[in-house]
This record gives sequence, C-alpha cells and structure tokens, in this order.
Amino acid sequence: MNNVWVFMEQNHGKLQPIGLELLSECRRKLTQDTQISAVYFGEHLTDKDKDAMTFCGADEIICTLDSKLSQYDTHYYAKAIENLMKHERPDVFLIGSTLQGRDLAPRVSARLNTGLTADATLLEFEQGEKLLLLATRPALGGNLFATIICENNIPQMATIRPSIFKIEEDKSRASTLKEVPFVCESTSKVKVLHSEKLTHKKVELNKAQVIVAGGRGVSNMFPVLKDIANLIGGEVAASRAVVDANIEQKDRLVGQTGTTVHPKVYFASGISGAIQHISGMDKSELIIAVNTDPNALIFDVADISIIADAKQVLPLVKEELKAILAYK
Ligand SMILES: Cc1cc2nc3c(=O)[nH]c(=O)nc-3n(C[C@H](O)[C@H](O)[C@H](O)COP(=O)(O)OP(=O)(O)OC[C@H]3O[C@@H](n4cnc5c(N)ncnc54)[C@H](O)[C@@H]3O)c2cc1C
Repeated sequence: MNNVWVFMEQNHGKLQPIGLELLSECRRKLTQDTQISAVYFGEHLTDKDKDAMTFCGADEIICTLDSKLSQYDTHYYAKAIENLMKHERPDVFLIGSTLQGRDLAPRVSARLNTGLTADATLLEFEQGEKLLLLATRPALGGNLFATIICENNIPQMATIRPSIFKIEEDKSRASTLKEVPFVCESTSKVKVLHSEKLTHKKVELNKAQVIVAGGRGVSNMFPVLKDIANLIGGEVAASRAVVDANIEQKDRLVGQTGTTVHPKVYFASGISGAIQHISGMDKSELIIAVNTDPNALIFDVADISIIADAKQVLPLVKEELKAILAYK
C-alpha cells in the first residue's frame, strides 16, 4: 500500500493549522488505497488533537512523545524522524513551509539522501503501483511555476506554504494510533537561553474576511486605508514595494514572500498586480481594484475594476462608509 506522511506542527503544545490543511488536501486528492499518516512530536497528545487529525483524513497517527520534544528543536526533531524512518519509509513526506518546517525539512532530506521541493503551492499525485508526488512552486522570481518530481528516491519530500488548502473535517472517520519511543543518545547543540513574546501583535492576514490593501501608488494613503479597514472590521495589507519602503510591517505583506490570503473581499488600491503579489490573493472571493493604469495586471484578476486616482476614490469610500454606518 502506498503511504503519505504529514508532519503535524505544534507550538507550545498547540496544534498548528498547517498539518490539518495538508491532511485535508491529501484526503481530497488521494484514494482510500493510499494510507495517510499524521506524524506528531511533543510531550503530550490530546484527544482533541487526535480527533482533529483523524477527521481531516489521517488513517494513522504516528506519535513520539517525550519531554525533549515538547518544543521544536532541530536536532531532536530530525532525530525523531530518522528513528521513524528506520522502520519504514513512506512514499511521500509533507511538511509545512513555516519557520519550523523550513528548518527541519532540508536537514531531514539530506540525512535521508532524498530530494526536497521547497515552498510548494500546489500538490498533485499520480497514483499507480508507485505513488508519484508532483509539487508545483514559483520559480525564477515567481515569473513561472515549476512542477518538480523526485522519481528515484523516497520519501519524496516537499514543504508547502500555509493557508493554501482548506481544512475539511469528516467526523465519521477513524484512525489507528502508533506510539514510537524517542531514542537519542546525543544532546542537542541548540540551547535556548531566553525566549520572549512578541510585543507587536502579529497580524493574522490569512484569517481576515476583509482586506484593504495598498501598493506604491497609495504609499502615502495608509492612514486612510486603516480608517476604511477599521470601519468595516477589516485588516490592512500591503505590497512588497510598501513593505520595502518601511511603510508597513512585513506581517502585512501579501504574496509569494508574504502571506497567502483568501478573504471574502480584497480591496486593492495602487497595486500593479505583479505575479508575486497575485499568487497570494487571487483566491479571494471578491476582488475590487483601483488603479490609474487601465492596463494594470491587477485588473486581470479583479471582479470590479475602477480605473481612477485612488487618492480621490479612497476618501470618498471612507465618507460613504461612515454615512452608511451612521444611518444604520
Ligand atoms: C522573488 C520575488 C518575490 C516577490 N514577492 C512579492 C510578494 O510577496 N508580494 C508583493 O507584493 N511583491 C513581491 N515582489 C515584488 C513584485 O514583483 C512587485 O515589484 C511589487 O508587487 C510591486 O508593488 P506595487 O504593485 O505596490 O508597486 P508598482 O509595481 O510600482 O505599482 C504601483 C501601481 O500603482 C498605480 N498607481 C500609481 N498612482 C496611483 C493612484 N494615484 N491611484 C491608483 N493607482 C495608482 C500604478 O499604475 C501602478 O500600477 C517580489 C519580487 C520578487 C523578485
């Protein structure tokens, strides 16, 4: 039987959505004769997290529980994966393209002497006697998409960007649990001396239902964009040009090197629509774009195109929203 493993990332014991996103996508794309396993490392595994993995499509949960694994540590986590792969090797091993995943995956692939497609945005499988992973990722500065296949070595590995795939649960599903002990004679070379909570609250653009985004064309209008976002309970986002100019923080960047978003409404002003930006927002349900250039690429993905000067449009939008809200 073919099998696919998905690494379940946790942070301070809290299961991260990326693992569930990958399980859901695998379950959608793979038939029942491919076994999907969720691989979890930590100190404890709660019933709630077990259920979440099962309902999202794991046929099997493989877990290694040890106090050394309570927090992410490159050395211990890579060792734990190596331990598992001594007994069996899956055809495919998927890891989120998060800070943890980007650190862990290359180390594991080098140890297992296999290839790794980093930062994939699309997964396809060819199911036959041999299961083949086709992982697609932006290449050459995002100007084209390359589909990469690693036919000759297993596991075929890829890291996948978070927030691309929808989490889908089916509560009728069941799974088996396999506990594998943690064996590691060496001590980690990494010693955490001190950890500090971010004082600046990280914006979770991927959860926003309404996004009011601005690009270089409106770089001096971010206070107005913020007012509009506040009026409608949305979040402000920005293009790379704005983030590079230090007008907005990196966690508000949308696109290939920022966050992938899929809000109900994406209101884009003064953004040209470079492929690197589009690839992070084109799954939005309704895209409204304002640009002075009728040939701006953003209009290719917009549902509503407004060819106008955003410096005139934005204050009008703000006043109109205020009037509507006052009337309510
Ligand atoms: C490897 C790589 C990764 C990248 N990753 C990202 C990424 O993740 N996200 C990202 O955004 N970019 C990314 N980029 C950069 C990307 O290629 C573009 O350079 C960037 O998106 C351009 O930002 P912009 O649209 O704000 O600026 P510009 O391209 O300069 O566009 C400004 C737009 O504003 C319009 N405009 C000007 N004045 C007005 C006005 N008064 N009213 C209305 N419209 C007006 C103009 O017509 C123009 O279309 C990446 C590039 C590379 C090479």
